[in-house]
Amino acid sequence: AAFVRAANIVKAYGDHRAVDDVSMDLKAGEVVSIIGPSGAGKSTFLRCLNFLEMPTAGAVTIGDRSVAVGPDHATPSRKDLAALRRNVGMVFQSFNLFPHLTALRNISLPQERVLGRSRQEADERSRALLARVGLKDKADSYPSRCSGGQQQRIAIARALALDPAVMLFDEPTSALDPEVGMEVLAVMRELAGDGMTMVVVTHEMAFARDVSDRVVVMVDGAVVEDGSPEVVMSDP
Ligand code: ADP
Ligand code: ADP
Repeated sequence: AAFVRAANIVKAYGDHRAVDDVSMDLKAGEVVSIIGPSGAGKSTFLRCLNFLEMPTAGAVTIGDRSVAVGPDHATPSRKDLAALRRNVGMVFQSFNLFPHLTALRNISLPQERVLGRSRQEADERSRALLARVGLKDKADSYPSRCSGGQQQRIAIARALALDPAVMLFDEPTSALDPEVGMEVLAVMRELAGDGMTMVVVTHEMAFARDVSDRVVVMVDGAVVEDGSPEVVMSDP
């Protein structure tokens, strides 16, 4: 059975369908890369998965939570959206860290606010996550004192700290120099190896080929290919 299911997602801006009837199923632990030209709707689709964008129509299921949108459905309640979102971690192209908080507090504060963890509990978990992304010694540093690759790894740790069932990545290395991007890709590779369920919008063909269980190609708002990296990426 699918662990994450996006069914018939449509996102229209005016009469332009940025996402035009896209469906995608992931098993627990599966890693799917979404590739395709700029403007294909990859980012919009990803943002529909956690209702950062409200789809025009379609349904998203994550674990035992389901939210359906469209003419045949009542507007989803804030409560239903919050419950579904809580299972989803998201990492953006821009790191979106809080500039006035240290790396440690960037990771621990959301745990206090969202999960009601105590400061001590949250800080302990944050230190473990900083170690996991290779930034043990950056706990007390502010984002401005960290490289782009370090900031992105802090952003990944912050998302993981909320114990999501699935992680969404929207071109996480696009804003980074290639060498620095490698540090981030290495962390993502480890996460995949640990069995995290992941959807990754990326231009990194090596990552898509080597780490993904499946590669989905989007063009003009639609899925044009969906298969193993060997099959999808061997195209002439
Ligand atoms: P990709 O991630 O594949 O580059 P996007 O999802 O960013 O593509 O964009 C898909 C299409 O939707 C593009 O034509 C883009 O201009 C359009 N689009 C995205 N967001 C908006 C918006 N908020 N308003 C209007 N059009 C949008
Ligand atoms: P990306 O592809 O990385 O998402 P974009 O430049 O497509 O970057 O989009 C950046 C932001 O601008 C997003 O919030 C997107 O929704 C919005 N956007 C993109 N295209 C349009 C558009 N044609 N009209 C209004 N907003 C747009």
